[in-house]
Amino acid sequence: MTLVHLGLGTNLGDRPANLRAAVEALATLGTVSACSQVWETAPLYVTDQPAFLNMAVALVTTLSPHDLLARLKRMEDQLGRVASVRYGPRLIDLDILLYGDVVMDDEILTLPHPRLHERHFALAPLAEIAGPCLHPALAASVETLLGRLPMADDVRRIGPLLTL
Ligand code: ADP
Ligand code: MG
Repeated sequence: MTLVHLGLGTNLGDRPANLRAAVEALATLGTVSACSQVWETAPLYVTDQPAFLNMAVALVTTLSPHDLLARLKRMEDQLGRVASVRYGPRLIDLDILLYGDVVMDDEILTLPHPRLHERHFALAPLAEIAGPCLHPALAASVETLLGRLPMADDVRRIGPLLTL
């Protein structure tokens, strides 16, 4: 069993409903042991698209890293994600941020997530449920990495999922 931290993102349709459906689906992959609050984030990279809702979820699972990624991709499809431009709008994006202390990098999977340490929208929710957890490749905690980022005024916490 491994404690995994996932990042969820959505910027199309009924965004809170997309997050609720995703959390419900994730519970079929193991035990959901923590959920961050929901954060709203102005889009990065491709800025001409709706704002994202982001959250982080802790999952205790027996799935291997590759099996977990395959299941997450299938779940993205089932939850209605349509193929789109890279970094473009999507109903739901499910990323593996941390898989225990595993460090790996192959053609399909990089752990920890290769852009975790530069993404306020991933680190801020993750810090709520895993602040002291170490990023195994950078040997710094999640809260330390968040503190190193410049202040972002376009990332704000909007509340617990159940209230949205
Ligand atoms: P992003 O999540 O960075 O916005 P995508 O969701 O389009 O981009 O993911 C592109 C690819 O990144 C996926 O097809 C997947 O194979 C790969 N990938 C590599 N490492 C990870 C990871 N840790 N979590 C999720 N996807 C990953
Ligand atoms: Mg992704």
